[in-house]
Amino acid sequence: MSDTTDFAGFLRTHPGFGRINFKYLTYQVYPQGYAKDVAGCVAAGRIRINRRFSDLGFAGTGAAYIMDSDQYSLSKGFDLTKPAAQILIVHESTHALQDFQNLGKIPVPDAEAIAYVAEAIFALAIGRPPLVDPATGAPHPIRVAAANAAAAVMAGAYEVGQAMVAAVRTAVAHSGHYDAKGFHDFDGIEDRSLGATLRFVGGRMHD
Ligand SMILES: [Zn+2]
Repeated sequence: MSDTTDFAGFLRTHPGFGRINFKYLTYQVYPQGYAKDVAGCVAAGRIRINRRFSDLGFAGTGAAYIMDSDQYSLSKGFDLTKPAAQILIVHESTHALQDFQNLGKIPVPDAEAIAYVAEAIFALAIGRPPLVDPATGAPHPIRVAAANAAAAVMAGAYEVGQAMVAAVRTAVAHSGHYDAKGFHDFDGIEDRSLGATLRFVGGRMHD
């Protein structure tokens, strides 16, 4: 099994994605976003999955989604069969969905808050506690705030309430991990197929 096959299969079939259905401000996150949109891009090679050769600066179970090059970057020993790894990939796949949605520039605290709420819903759906910070052994305040918002969604709320939006956003902004005044630029998933490349090189022959 390749990482591509594993990721596409996980996104398509894991029942936890069926619970991730919510609205945060104007942004919408929905099961088919994972099971169809992101899974389809992974299966088609439009979103690539790369493993690092070394884990320097990226120890243990680490993963990132890089929006400008449309790829997941995984730590060397990343194991998608582990629940903690799955929860992390739900977070990163939410960024992949934001990229698929071609949302453009979104304030970092909101883009991250959405991904944290999505991972928290998935964790609740599989009966797992929030991920813990290796340094402290406790969940980061962002994950505590996101778990509260996720519990409300699991209880039937569709929109994340204003107070919960404020709590998650504030926790992200104060974390020191993120550029609180910055933006993530979700620039869409490019068509990197050979035909698209030839059209690009050969000029604008087709739309
Ligand atoms: Zn994130």
